[in-house]
Amino acid sequence: MDEKYFPEEIEKKWQQRWEETRAFQASDQDGSREKFYCLEMLPYPSGFLHMGHVRNYSIGDALAWFKRLQGFNVLHPIGWDSFGQPAEQAAIKRGVNPRDWTEENIDHMRGQLKRLGISYDWSREIAAHRPDYYKWDQWFFLKMLERGLAYKKNSPVNWCPKEQTVLSNEQSSGGICWRCGAAVEKRDLEQWFLRITEYAEQLVADIEQIEASWPEKVLKRQRDWVGRSEGAYIDFAVKDSKEKIRVFTTRIDTIFGATAVVLSAEHPLLAKLLEGSSLKNDVAVFAAKVKQQRATSSNAPEEEKEGLNTGLLAINPFSGENVPVWVANYVLMEYGTGAVMSVPAHDERDFEFAQKYSLPIRQVIAPVSHTQQKAEPVSTMGTDQSVEMARAFVDYGVLINSGDWGGKLSEVAIAEMSKFAEEHGFGKAAVTYRIRDWGVSRQRFWGAPVPVVYCEKCGMVPVPYDQLPVVLPQTADFTGAGESPLASVPEFVNTSCPKCKAPARRETDTMDTFVDSSWYFFRYCDPHNDNAPFDSEIVKQWTPVDQYIGGDSHAVMHLIYTRFWTKFMRDLGLVNFDEPVKRLLTQGMVTNLVEDSEEWKAMSKSLGNGVDPDEMIAAFGADATRLFVLFAAPVENELRWSETGIEGAVRFLRRVYTMVWRWRERLSKPAEPVDPAQFSPEARALQRKTHQTIAKVTGDFEHLHLNTSVAALMELFNQLSDFNADPAKASAEDVSVVREAVDSLVIMLAPFSPHVAEEMWEKLGHTGGLLTARWPLADPALARREELEIPIQVNGKLRSRVIAALDISEEELRTAALADEKVRAFTDGHEVVKVIIVPQRLVNVVVR
Ligand SMILES: [Zn+2]
Ligand SMILES: [Zn+2]
Repeated sequence: MDEKYFPEEIEKKWQQRWEETRAFQASDQDGSREKFYCLEMLPYPSGFLHMGHVRNYSIGDALAWFKRLQGFNVLHPIGWDSFGQPAEQAAIKRGVNPRDWTEENIDHMRGQLKRLGISYDWSREIAAHRPDYYKWDQWFFLKMLERGLAYKKNSPVNWCPKEQTVLSNEQSSGGICWRCGAAVEKRDLEQWFLRITEYAEQLVADIEQIEASWPEKVLKRQRDWVGRSEGAYIDFAVKDSKEKIRVFTTRIDTIFGATAVVLSAEHPLLAKLLEGSSLKNDVAVFAAKVKQQRATSSNAPEEEKEGLNTGLLAINPFSGENVPVWVANYVLMEYGTGAVMSVPAHDERDFEFAQKYSLPIRQVIAPVSHTQQKAEPVSTMGTDQSVEMARAFVDYGVLINSGDWGGKLSEVAIAEMSKFAEEHGFGKAAVTYRIRDWGVSRQRFWGAPVPVVYCEKCGMVPVPYDQLPVVLPQTADFTGAGESPLASVPEFVNTSCPKCKAPARRETDTMDTFVDSSWYFFRYCDPHNDNAPFDSEIVKQWTPVDQYIGGDSHAVMHLIYTRFWTKFMRDLGLVNFDEPVKRLLTQGMVTNLVEDSEEWKAMSKSLGNGVDPDEMIAAFGADATRLFVLFAAPVENELRWSETGIEGAVRFLRRVYTMVWRWRERLSKPAEPVDPAQFSPEARALQRKTHQTIAKVTGDFEHLHLNTSVAALMELFNQLSDFNADPAKASAEDVSVVREAVDSLVIMLAPFSPHVAEEMWEKLGHTGGLLTARWPLADPALARREELEIPIQVNGKLRSRVIAALDISEEELRTAALADEKVRAFTDGHEVVKVIIVPQRLVNVVVR
């Protein structure tokens, strides 16, 4: 190898060496070392890595190297989330086979990852679209079916009219297709659901276990998604009828302020209650209109509130008061009970509705005055206060106009009134959740087939376990139309019933790809298992994942589903913990200037501000690209792309390389004995810097403060460069501190720029490669600063510096300052008025 730094040669050499020696293959049976499972979110094989991937994997790789060098048994795998829409779109648009398209993309991206030199254990590579993987998706599905956790029901689905496909709630949030941006419509279809609601309580409660090590913003979104609310069911009897309307409320303390009961237009009781009513027809027309509205305009929250008085009356069980029953478009059958009590004084939606339809507004909660802990005086009692209230008062407070509960605090009243309702048989305390069951049916080809068949005699029959996998056919008719393309493949559809052997039809829906990614990292632990998704004993050695790294766009979908799946696997006895991921990092975006503008935006093809990782590797090398990506910004923050930045990284690596080259001969020789007492002040300073840097970088790594680690390495290098010693003539003492500094620098550089680090390590005479090296340990005694250099000013101008012990007293410092020769040149012949001392920092002598 050369005197000059040629990244291309060095990187090729070490990538080959790593591959030949299977350097990063993790060993399952190594109980002698502590394990560390370092995981990055698996990519969708779109065909090309982008800089977001490079950032994600560079962070993970730095941590994997750090832990390996610390002696951990590290598992660092990668695979492909290879089912999904783009492959099918390619089939529809260009007639390519989705399987071929996917495999080609994987090949290309694998090559890119290898050129980046990411230290993956390639022997564990998995891909979701291969039958040996999706067989186990199907296996899990059958397990859920057995336990009643998978079920089919006719339900309105979110439908993208542009792509002619069903979308999950998550994929159509805000009424807009997450992929193409089209306005989402509603359609009725028979759908498969997974009963994630069964785990709603645990999904909230177990957050306690990960609270300290997951980003708060992710956990907040998960809490909101599950939407747990404590409240009560209350039954309002319908006047002149035996029926009762059950409402759910989180604010039973406001019930004396209820001035209406409002039903969803789809409420099943409506038909019965309106039997014989002259308004029946009007309500039916209104209901049809609401349904139509919802089908076309999605669930936009800002939708205009509309309602209709049914003419019915309901009886408030607390006050005995009769209130009108309305139907309205803002009450949805899917939430709560499909009925609410309307308390306009204390709910914003109800307030808006009451104003529009001139319903009475009655205040029953008053703010608590902070100092007195009692209600503020209220002028009107029990009457309509529509005029007085400018907006709803939604906070907790003190009850007023509320019968026996008047004067109680909301918190107290909620508990007491729920109990009262239960004792009197018209309600009870209850918890509800916003989360809905997970719709997993997709009318698509490129996914794992749902493993059931339909028989005329036996109905729906699960495919027996020993007949898995239900294999996708080679191809299908890709028309892009609504029905699953699988329906067009007779060899697939036509089968026989596993029970009675009569002709039967296969289910043609495939599963949401989020099924594949819910458990993939368990499969990495035991990727070639033919008999089970994985062996629990092997998985126990590796999981939970110690560090997971990915984008925060997965905060609620993937990261909720995988928590759900883990809890289900725990209930199957496959794993013995509740939470799959100990620590989560959501890395920031990579942005670049949008051409001809001052705007920094996430790199994207459509904005034309993307950067091709291959081009960067070709121009600057993988090591410099990775170093720049990790140095340019804290890992959670936005990273602004800068070619000048990469050039800086190359320059730094070149300088380190050249320095190693200069010292290589002297440092390759066996270490000579040294006498620490003979260290020069400069040698001592370098030794101190080395240990300070080790302490700093080691500490920073624990918090993934990678950018500051790189900065510390640069500082150490600068001090090394300034160290004035000739490699050929340097004393044994000087060589010993240089050796320690250089070895430490090279090892600590390995997580960022592993190829050149390996090369330098070899040049320095070490055999066996960096994987046999160990991360240096900081000696606190050597890192400690023994002396201080304190500036001395005379009348505010710097005149000298004194070297002082750390624990020097003010009196000693004063004496030292006044005795200093350079200071005396300005004080002799003057009167010293005072001496200002900032301990350990500064002395200012004031003279006149
Ligand atoms: Zn779409
Ligand atoms: Zn049958």
